[in-house]
Amino acid sequence: MFLKKILAVCVLSSMFAISGCQKNEQDSKEKIEDVSQSGLKMDAAQMMTHLHAFEQIAKQQGGNRAVGTQGGLASADYILDHAKKAGFTTELQAFENREKTKGQNIIVEIPGESKQDIILLGAHYDSVKMGPGINDNASGVALLLELMAQLSQQKIKPKHSIHLAFWDSEEVGIAGSQAYVKKLSAEQLKAIKAYINVDMVGTKDPEILIADGDKSSVDEMEKMLKERGMQEQDYKPLLDGLRSIPSHSGDLALENTLKEFFKAKNLKIKEDVATLTASDTAPFLGKVPVTSVILFNEQMKGDELEFAPCYHKACDTIEQVDPKSMQLAGDAVVYLLQSLDKK
Ligand SMILES: [Zn+2]
Repeated sequence: MFLKKILAVCVLSSMFAISGCQKNEQDSKEKIEDVSQSGLKMDAAQMMTHLHAFEQIAKQQGGNRAVGTQGGLASADYILDHAKKAGFTTELQAFENREKTKGQNIIVEIPGESKQDIILLGAHYDSVKMGPGINDNASGVALLLELMAQLSQQKIKPKHSIHLAFWDSEEVGIAGSQAYVKKLSAEQLKAIKAYINVDMVGTKDPEILIADGDKSSVDEMEKMLKERGMQEQDYKPLLDGLRSIPSHSGDLALENTLKEFFKAKNLKIKEDVATLTASDTAPFLGKVPVTSVILFNEQMKGDELEFAPCYHKACDTIEQVDPKSMQLAGDAVVYLLQSLDKK
């Protein structure tokens, strides 16, 4: 996750007590049930094993797994090794970020009944330099690795082909996914039926952040600010900015599917637009149907609003991760995939 504007939005909404940015203690204690659909079942213990491995990598390589560092390269090797074990083809894409650091995306191809129609799932595997990046975003990587292993072991052939993208250099300019999208032809973009971004899914006592496909949350925010007597000139630039974020006609259907899943579990969700520009969803916006699974837990740390505990810090270790959150996010992704396959 690569946050800038989001803080302004949430500070604003906390100030004016917009429910979306507030924590709901009760919901986080809801019982989280396992889901098992058509045999595809995610195992949180396996995901935790990956997180341990990434933490070891960071420990042995100077405390981080940032783009272009030994920790980053070792993380890429770990992903490649697991893709090989699962028996899937991988493609490497090298690029340079704005700091002229070399990065590489890893794309794993899981063939479905249709070779033309692709569901793309992505998670960035680089950390910031300040820490090991276990919740942000070894957690998303672990989820994709577990999905890959399950599809392989259970010999599941999905209707659509599934491509898993492990992005590099998200933390420096969202460069990996940007480089990938830049190279796609119009035809290749058309083949992507959905892009599902997985970022920070291990957060304890999480709030569920859902990509707001129709930007209804911006209208709500505006209504609230108006009601509270805030001057239009003070909030209009921010809201205009949020409204100008590109969207695709397919975004809303994905949003509704995710809502269905979390509402059935009685979990409270927050619809949000700003985070879409703060992760690997950004380059895909308006080009293909996009959604994302993000679990956050905002807290005030002194004067600063922290998106999740230890966000972008050295303490973003496995201590920050709850296997129940990993399971929940994994099940949500499976639910999305299966509802997409029904179409
Ligand atoms: Zn981040």
